[in-house]
Formats: sequence, structure tokens, C-alpha cells
Amino acid sequence: MPIATVNPATGETLRTFRPYGPDEVEQRVAAADRAFRHHRTTAFGERAALLGRAADLLEEDVPDIARTVTTEMGKPVTAARAEAAKCVKAMRWYAHNAEALLADERPAGADVRDSGASTARVHYRPLGPVLAVMPWNFPLWQVVRFAAPALMAGNTGLLKHASNVPQTALYLEDLFRRAGYPDGVFQTLLTGSGAVEGVLRDPRVAAATLTGSEAAGRSVAAVAGDEVKKTVLELGGSDPYLVLPSADVERAAATAVTARTQNNGQSCIAAKRFIVHTDVYDAFLERFTAGMAALTVGDPMDEATDVGPLASESGRADLEELVADAVGRGASVRCGGRRPEGLDRGWFYEPTVLTGVAPGARIHREEAFGPVAVVYRAGGLDEALDIANDSPFGLSSNVWTRDASEVERCVRDLEAGGVFVNGMTASHPALPFGGVKRSGYGRELSGHGIKEFCNATTVWQA
Ligand code: NAP
Repeated sequence: MPIATVNPATGETLRTFRPYGPDEVEQRVAAADRAFRHHRTTAFGERAALLGRAADLLEEDVPDIARTVTTEMGKPVTAARAEAAKCVKAMRWYAHNAEALLADERPAGADVRDSGASTARVHYRPLGPVLAVMPWNFPLWQVVRFAAPALMAGNTGLLKHASNVPQTALYLEDLFRRAGYPDGVFQTLLTGSGAVEGVLRDPRVAAATLTGSEAAGRSVAAVAGDEVKKTVLELGGSDPYLVLPSADVERAAATAVTARTQNNGQSCIAAKRFIVHTDVYDAFLERFTAGMAALTVGDPMDEATDVGPLASESGRADLEELVADAVGRGASVRCGGRRPEGLDRGWFYEPTVLTGVAPGARIHREEAFGPVAVVYRAGGLDEALDIANDSPFGLSSNVWTRDASEVERCVRDLEAGGVFVNGMTASHPALPFGGVKRSGYGRELSGHGIKEFCNATTVWQA
């Protein structure tokens, strides 16, 4: 895959970049290692000042970087601005909270005295240079939610970003440099995915985090496993969205439209499978389909656009194949199901609702990475949970109900890293984010996220 900015709204290649050769990669790995030796010794206050400055600079840059993001991957520019603003918030949150999150933990004296200790504590130390392999869909956010905690913990970062967002990747390196971080603390590696294995096997690289597809996650985890290095994997999702009889159907349907089509439908935590109790099925389907059909598809630079193009031609082709397969196995298209008229140059696809999807259809178990929703009818909560859990993925989940016992049942039985009640899944700096099953392992954000790349060191004293 060439490293290039190709505008998904027009298909036009705007800039291409020469990938770094082995010498350039070596220089950056060496710089990350050198920088770690100093950065690990700095005080939290110093790290917080640097991250705070990066947040201030990013805040000033929001309009410009949002246009770059939209040009590279096609999300509506309004959504790109919101993504950048969310990064500012997360940076400030970690600048403010990291020291408390990583404070020494002291078990009560009585608990450890039988070990012979007069005192004992757990002290969090950084691991070293961490390789971050990141996707294009939230090209600022995915990086910041790794970098903010990792740098606050005293690690250094090497970013291998997706090949279609090189300008955003270079912007991020420049942002941290302008904020005053010493050379080597945060660097971008402009390389294809073929270079990842070599970097990960380098003894100076301590760990890796990957956000992306299951195939990429499996490949990085296999190499890391071979090298006995820690990994965090944030992979795909096909989140269920349960609507039960006591739900506010109007709100559930309106929120479902946003939950499915945010980021042009290319979000790991987008609700993708809508599992609706038979008592409210018709009312939900009518409102949801009307809402999906009413969205404005078009130029992502236009402030009025709801849904822009898919990020790549191959991404649209994959989505079209999933829909064709479902229809070939008997599914009905309630709206969309085709390319919009008059938008021939870019990789657009109409918001689509499918019903009657057979369990053998690929879309029943595979992730639809675009604005395509599948609506299922369930006879009761047991059946709804069975359909929800009949997926290789387990990222997040949503349930709409006013019944407290149904909420508890879902919290107990939904196989997912999150259960969002009467709302859609969204990440927040203070809440852990991650999945189970094929959606990956480990957590980002919150105290859980910052500790993933720390050495929890037991300090025992006689
Ligand atoms: P992808 O192909 O896996 O790409 C993601 C990153 O991995 C890119 O930097 C890519 O580099 C690299 N990569 C690809 N194959 C690799 C390999 N074999 N070894 C090492 N690195 C490799 O992902 P995508 O299809 O563009 O992104 C969408 C996927 O990401 C979806 O499945 C989505 O659900 C998932 N996602 C998950 C989360 C989460 O938090 N759980 C968040 C966002 C997205 P190149 O670009 O150079 O190929």
C-alpha cells in the first residue's frame, strides 16, 4: 500500500511519500531508546506541562488539522473538529490525573506483615519505547488515547500510522515537538506494515499497541508473543443494540441512526446489529429506516453533510460484497443498498438498512465497516441476548430499557467490554475502553489504560 494522501471524496491522489528506509527507521528507534533513558526520570509535573502545551497547540490547530483529516480519510469536517477537540480533552485529563493514577499503592501493614515486611508497596515504572500501530478511522484520537497516558507514564512512543493518513501522522510528531518534548520522545515512522515486524523484534522496543483489523492484530500479537513482549489489541467490533419493550422507541431510533453512521459508518464501536423486541419492532424499524434515509450524503467539507465517502475504494467494495451476499441469501433492503446518484467520483455509499438477514450470511458474523445496519426481530430478552452474543466480536453493547432487572441481566450476560444503557457507546478519558473475544484484549483510557504499559513493581522492605 503506497503511503499517500488520496482524497476519498474525489479519488484524487494529492501527495505521495517515500517510506523510510532501514537506516531512517534505525535512527528513530535509537532516538526513542535514548530519549526514554531521560524521560523516564522526569517528574510528573514536567510531563504534565509538556502534555498541557501539546493540548493548547492542538486546540489552536483544530480548524486546520480537521481539514487535513477530512481530506485524508473523508469524515465530515464537523466530526473531524469534534475528534480533535476530544483529543485536547483527553490530553488535559491525563496531564491532570496521571500522577494520582500512578501513585504508589500501599497494602495495609497488617496484610503484608506475615511476609516479613515492615512496609511494602507497588510502584509503577514505565516500560520503554512502545510501538503504536494505528488505523485511519480516528487518525488523531486513536493516537492520542495511546500517547497521552504512555508519555505521562514515562514511556516513549513510535507511531506507525495507517498508510492513507501520512499528513496527519507527521502533524502529530510535529505537535509533540512544538510542545517542547525532547527529540525521540514521540516519533512517526513513515513505513508500510511490512516494517512492523522488524521494529517489534528490536530489543530496544518494549511493547506494542495495535488498533485495527483482526488480521493485523493477529500478526502483531504473534510476533510480540514470539518476543515475549506486552501487547494491547483494540480490534474490530459488531456491537449489538438491543431495544426492549419499555424503551423510549423514538429516542432509541434517533440515537441508532447516529450510532450506526458516525464517522461514515467506520467506527469500531458503532452499533451494527439492531436487535429489537417484537413488541416494538415495527415502530422502531419505521423510525430508524426513515432516519437513515433522511441523512445527507455528500462532500465531507460541507458543514451540512452527515455522511461522507468511505475511506477507500476497497473498503466500499468490501461493504458492497457483504450487502450482495446478504441479499443473495434472502435479506430485504429497507433503504439504501447502493451508491448514491450524482457522486460518482468518490467512494460514497448510501445509508442502508437490511432485515431478514439469514444466520449464514457473512454480515451476520463479519464487521460491516460502513453505513449498513442489520435489524433483527427477537421474541424476548433471552433470544435478544442469544443473537447479541452470536458474534466473534465483543467490543461494546447497547441496551434500551426502563426495566432495572433487564439492565442487570444485560450487564451479566452481554459478552462485551462495555454495556451502554439508553444511549450509544462513546469513549471517555475516565472510562476503560476495550473488548473481549476477537475484539482484542487490554484496555485503553482511565487508570486501566495508563497501567498497561507500566511495570507494576513490588517494593518490599524488611
Ligand atoms: P488495518 O488494515 O488492520 O490497519 C490498521 C493498522 O495496522 C495500519 O497502520 C496498518 O498499516 C497496520 N497493519 C495492517 N496489516 C498489518 C500487519 N499484517 N502487520 C502489522 N501492521 C499491519 O485496519 P483497517 O481495516 O484500516 O481499520 C479498520 C479496522 O480497525 C476495523 O476492523 C475496526 O473495527 C478496527 N478499529 C478498532 C478500534 C478499537 O478501538 N477496537 C478502533 C478503530 C478501528 P497500513 O495502513 O500500512 O496497511
